[in-house]
Amino acid sequence: MKIVIAEDTGFCYGVQRAIGLVKRRLEAGKEELYSLGPLIHNRLVMKELEKKGLKIVDNPSRIKGSLIIRSHGLHPALIEEARRKKIRVIDTTCPFVKSVQKRVKYLVIMNYEVIIIGNPNHPEVGALAGFARDEAIIIDQKSNINPVFNTGQISKIGAKKVGVVSQTTINVKDYQRIISELYKKIGPEEFLVFNTICEITKKRQKEVAKLSRRVDSFLVLGSKESSNTRALYELCKKRRPAFLIETPSQIKEEWFKTAGTIGILSGTSTPDWVVKATADALARLKNE
Ligand code: SF4
Repeated sequence: MKIVIAEDTGFCYGVQRAIGLVKRRLEAGKEELYSLGPLIHNRLVMKELEKKGLKIVDNPSRIKGSLIIRSHGLHPALIEEARRKKIRVIDTTCPFVKSVQKRVKYLVIMNYEVIIIGNPNHPEVGALAGFARDEAIIIDQKSNINPVFNTGQISKIGAKKVGVVSQTTINVKDYQRIISELYKKIGPEEFLVFNTICEITKKRQKEVAKLSRRVDSFLVLGSKESSNTRALYELCKKRRPAFLIETPSQIKEEWFKTAGTIGILSGTSTPDWVVKATADALARLKNE
């Protein structure tokens, strides 16, 4: 059995930055830090941060210290509410996500109908919708565009000026497909589409195609809740047998009985040590 690790694995820039910032503040010990929901979609890392003192709450009324804005961003109404209550706000929104928020604000100011393509339940999409005054049309990247038309939102996108952005971590092909469906269906006079999928996400998706020429199966490392991990896993599944795990202890020997070469990829909220521990666990399987 041969193991090939993708070129780009481990934390992305935005996750690394958010975790570094939070760790430094926790270690300084000058304040209690609260995150509205998990800081990143990785249970192992969250456990470590909670041990260091980070508190995860689901309701702003439970914040008794400083509020961390996660790398996905936060709905502007919640930021406003925290500031009104004199809660210190520590912003770790990834700069790439911030740039999408800026584009949404621009579209609103310029009177475009805003369409966001992404997972409607993802916090990044919720925050983006907030920057569009909660009036954006959200299209799930996994669906086709019909629900938007069937639920009467068609009248809204009969608008002459339509602007489209995506969640930063969706599958590039899904974004392209929905944009083309939309254009065919509504053909507005002005159709402004922003290329808002993050470069790191794109690079990792491209690696799937490259690696699939060399491997017999894929092992994708990350959480099921992580949008970019799921996008990677779905791409891998289309090309080779693929398995998604969060920790090396979840590896099942029978998955790789006949695999000559296994490709390891990771989502952007998976730490490097999980990648290394997984490669070691696979190497042990080989020797047993
Ligand atoms: S995946 Fe991209 S946009 Fe998301 S946090 Fe990482 S660097 Fe930022």
